[in-house]
Amino acid sequence: MSLKKNLPDFFRTIAFRMSTWYTLIFFLCSCALFAVFYVVVENTLKDQVDRELSQQAGAFSRVIQRRGMAGARNLAIAEARAAGEKKIFFRLLYPSGEVFASSYMSHWKGIDVDEILVKKLMIHKTPLFESIAVNSGGPDSGRKQRIRLLYTFIAPRVILQTGIVTDVSFQFLGTLQKVFLVYLVCSLFLCSVSAWLLVKKALGRVETIRKTAQEITGTNLAQRVPVTFSGNAVDELDELAGTFNRMLDRIAHLVSSMQQMNDDIAHDLKSPLTRIRGLAELSLTQQNQGVSEYQAMAAGVIEESDRLLDMINTMLVISRADAGEEEFDMERVDVSSLIQDACELFVPVAEDKNISCAVDIPSGLALQADKRMIQRAFSNILDNALKYTPAGGRVDVTAFKTNEKFIHIQVADTGPGIPLQYADRIFDRFFRLDASRATQGSGLGLSLARTIVEKHGGDISVAPANDQKSSGSIFTIRLPYCNPGVI
Ligand code: ADP
Repeated sequence: MSLKKNLPDFFRTIAFRMSTWYTLIFFLCSCALFAVFYVVVENTLKDQVDRELSQQAGAFSRVIQRRGMAGARNLAIAEARAAGEKKIFFRLLYPSGEVFASSYMSHWKGIDVDEILVKKLMIHKTPLFESIAVNSGGPDSGRKQRIRLLYTFIAPRVILQTGIVTDVSFQFLGTLQKVFLVYLVCSLFLCSVSAWLLVKKALGRVETIRKTAQEITGTNLAQRVPVTFSGNAVDELDELAGTFNRMLDRIAHLVSSMQQMNDDIAHDLKSPLTRIRGLAELSLTQQNQGVSEYQAMAAGVIEESDRLLDMINTMLVISRADAGEEEFDMERVDVSSLIQDACELFVPVAEDKNISCAVDIPSGLALQADKRMIQRAFSNILDNALKYTPAGGRVDVTAFKTNEKFIHIQVADTGPGIPLQYADRIFDRFFRLDASRATQGSGLGLSLARTIVEKHGGDISVAPANDQKSSGSIFTIRLPYCNPGVI
């Protein structure tokens, strides 16, 4: 791939953008800091020069007072000579601006008396400073010399114009600028490179997460992002990696349970469909059947179809309730009479199987619930108890309140019991114990019961029967009196 093609992508990277921002901020801060520093230094130097010029003017005032004009004239020549005639000059003027004495001025030919400043001085009477640049060594030399001038009264009718070369100060400021420029270029380079490296290092772990996410396909859910725990502490990226891994765990679990469910659905729908097909085939192939035989086959088809429909409907209710889409019609439900009514419906079944059924429920147990749903959950438990308990057995239904504000509904039977290792799994969709396969069922009844009870803020569990003499199990539904968490 050509470099040209890569460039736009490179500019879009977070590493590039962040390091550019850091560098820009550093550049602006450095410039602002330098500007403040430069102004302070420049003003300090200027103040120093102004103080020097003012001191000279003070000396002239004192000399005029003591020795008159002649003394001032001599002082101008002597001071300029002492400090260097190319460095400082003095001119004594009348208020009209006419020069009547000066130091040796051959080096200062380019500097005239500024009449405007003299007039200003006449009006305000306060010393006036001026900065100018003149060509040193003649008007065509091209080399500029910076000079600071002072106009001030040294006697009632005598003005002193004095000037001093400030090149040294400007050279110092120029050197300062150059040093800053070199510092800026070096530190900008270092700042951008180190910002780039730091951001790249931090983003390296994000890149690992991105690569892991990319590698995860439907079949490779086992991949996980490494958590570094650098310095024994969990940083933001470790937390991100941990959250990402937990999300993957959940997805892996969901995918595997969906796969399991798909297998179960396929398996459990296959049997009734095969039976329906068998009956239909029989009615087609068998000749000379009487009406009653055909009716029996049609009834068989209807029965199997009903079972299929029931299974599909139950699956839909479970899925919708799990997804929070099933509407629960909450109302005050008299649980005592609900259980009584349900038990009465099952009396013929119990009698047919010669199972004794005892119901012991105090009256007046009530709770907020969807009556139809609770009835369905309880009927599934009772139906199982009668279905799996052999003839001559017993089923006991009890209900009671507890101090923890729960109502317990228990169904105990003397059936084959449930091995402890399956006590949880029997509530999974389509799970059936091998021992029960001979008995008709879909493996969905307990799953639906658990979904309904949990949506009412309760829970459901199974335990071995207390009775030492028989196997058997006790199913307990626990429901809160008032369940505000119901969806
Ligand atoms: P099914 O339609 O098979 O009864 P359920 O979801 O109601 O489906 O029950 C799941 C499995 O739990 C049953 O297949 C059975 O193996 C076991 N089971 C449920 N209730 C009892 C019980 N009272 N005694 C023994 N086994 C039971």
